[in-house]
Amino acid sequence: MKRLLTLSLLLSTALAAPAAQAQSTESATPPAPATRSMPTAQPVLDTISPARDVAYPGMMTLEVDASDTTQRIWHVKQTIPVSSSGPLTLLYPEWLPGKHAPRGQVEKVAGLTITANGVNIGWRRSATDVYAFHVNVPEGAREIVLEFQFLNATAKNQGRIAVTDKMLNLQFETVSFYPAGYYVRRIPVATTVTYPQGWQAFTALRGKVSGSTVRYEDTDYETLVDSPVFAGKHSRVVDLGHDVKLDMVADKPSELAATAEQIEPHKKLVRETLALFGAKHFDRYDFLLSITDEMGSIGLEHHRSSENGVDPGYFTKWKDGPGERNLLPHELVHSWNGKYRRPELLWTPDYRTQMQDNLLWVYEGQTQFWGYVLGARSGLYTKEQTLDAYASIAARLDTAKGRSWRPLIDTTHDPIIARRMPKGWSSWQRAEDYYNEGLLMWLEADGIIRRESNGAKGLDDFARAFFGMRDGDWGQLTYSRQDVINTLNGIQPYDWAGFIASHVDSTSSEAPKAGFALGGYKLVYGDTANSKTKDLEKRIGGIDQSYGIGLMVRNEGHIVSVIWDSPAFKADLAVGMQIIAVNGVEFSGENFKEALTSAKLDKRPIDLIVKQDRNFRSIKLDYSLGLRYPRLEKTGEGEGSLDRLLQPKT
Ligand SMILES: [Zn+2]
Repeated sequence: MKRLLTLSLLLSTALAAPAAQAQSTESATPPAPATRSMPTAQPVLDTISPARDVAYPGMMTLEVDASDTTQRIWHVKQTIPVSSSGPLTLLYPEWLPGKHAPRGQVEKVAGLTITANGVNIGWRRSATDVYAFHVNVPEGAREIVLEFQFLNATAKNQGRIAVTDKMLNLQFETVSFYPAGYYVRRIPVATTVTYPQGWQAFTALRGKVSGSTVRYEDTDYETLVDSPVFAGKHSRVVDLGHDVKLDMVADKPSELAATAEQIEPHKKLVRETLALFGAKHFDRYDFLLSITDEMGSIGLEHHRSSENGVDPGYFTKWKDGPGERNLLPHELVHSWNGKYRRPELLWTPDYRTQMQDNLLWVYEGQTQFWGYVLGARSGLYTKEQTLDAYASIAARLDTAKGRSWRPLIDTTHDPIIARRMPKGWSSWQRAEDYYNEGLLMWLEADGIIRRESNGAKGLDDFARAFFGMRDGDWGQLTYSRQDVINTLNGIQPYDWAGFIASHVDSTSSEAPKAGFALGGYKLVYGDTANSKTKDLEKRIGGIDQSYGIGLMVRNEGHIVSVIWDSPAFKADLAVGMQIIAVNGVEFSGENFKEALTSAKLDKRPIDLIVKQDRNFRSIKLDYSLGLRYPRLEKTGEGEGSLDRLLQPKT
């Protein structure tokens, strides 16, 4: 939006200018009666050169001192060679791959000085692009030197915590600028990082270690930004085979004590993923995994690595359920879907060009689909746990009345609109539904392909054809919606354009659940929680009755969500309130469950006392359907196509 310059605006300004400048200057004239001054808009000119696909002359050098674990201040020195004097624009990365939004943390850059031949040459930030810094390179300068700090969040209200006294997560876009006017893949860079003493650092880049300093292999700026670092005091590396490694850091060494039985499904995940796609687009791959409740959580895909943050207990509480074991399958799939194959308007030549998110129902939706399928095929999830996840996903989307006004495609803009901020009425506003609704849509596509081909083909064939081409190509291959439709038609002729239009572009009254019917299952509700709901209830420390009374509430009574148009909604409940008592007794999750259960039998309203700000209110909840939890139920005899989809290939 900041790069808009319209001809009509320029013309109207030019024509209107004389009138706008006509102002009275005679002080003796009494003031005119009250009127309305009307300025004319000034044209906004974008003077920053667009990126060109030409080689940048010379190699940038980047030195980062990331050894401060208490104040968490990173010190940066960056040298940028220059071939001529005059104006030069330096850009700080704004639009970040994988975040699908302008999320560069430029507010954490401080102390910036820029010198040439030892003389401070100053800088001026663009008023229309706060990520752009203009400098004037003096005659005779061969390079400019930037020195600044990146001030990591020291409290959660400043942003994600990326440094603790036991680990750090260095993303190179936070500690570097790049010259405007070039594709970032054409800008060479040599990088050196100093870490806290005794720590191990992991990244897809290889480097030479000397004490606490690592001199990384020379690369290009795009690859550098796509190669973040996890470093830690306590670490462990496990070889998962096929050039894939699991690089782990944790708050405590005991969190790293994965058994062979726990590692095996991770190895199988690699085998299953390679068997699915048939080709790979990396020479090596590093899962960066942090097991911590101190460093902020993350799940971010890269071409040759991924950043994965899970809570303590990933291995030590393995038997409690799948927990966050869906994260690694999801992020690994992204190496194919998202990094190698990328929507044509989401791919950008630099980090200034606006990313267009409208194909995220493929990029994230199909990744979500394969993440769960590969979770089941690898054994990270049992089949039962996978079916439970499907049930919870479909049931939650079914509660989203927002689908009646907001089509799925519009939710793809949510990373830019909402920036993942909490929402008051997410079932009405909708959120990043392209993930899970994309999953359901692709499940239905798989069922259609299997039905139409009499079981000969499935979405596996699409994955191989669409993502598994050009083995060994480490670049990016862009696609359009029509390319997706054409590949689907190549696998199994069908009205795929109509299928996608009805799921993606249209509003609807319920979540797409036809994939269950095609696969031999249906969504039903009962009064016991499935494994996915149990996981969620443990995580929020409360109960999830989104599908019945329409409420998610913590054990101490704080309301987490109220489903739009649900009985809870009609009783005037909202996020931010606290339920103090239920049927005259102090609120607890268990008491509330009991009240819901007995209301089903005696059909009497449930009495609540609710606190909002400093006010207390009595509320009568007229609701008698009891506890409602979703699960999938088999509809036919024998093996259905959904059963076949979840079977391992290796
Ligand atoms: Zn993703």
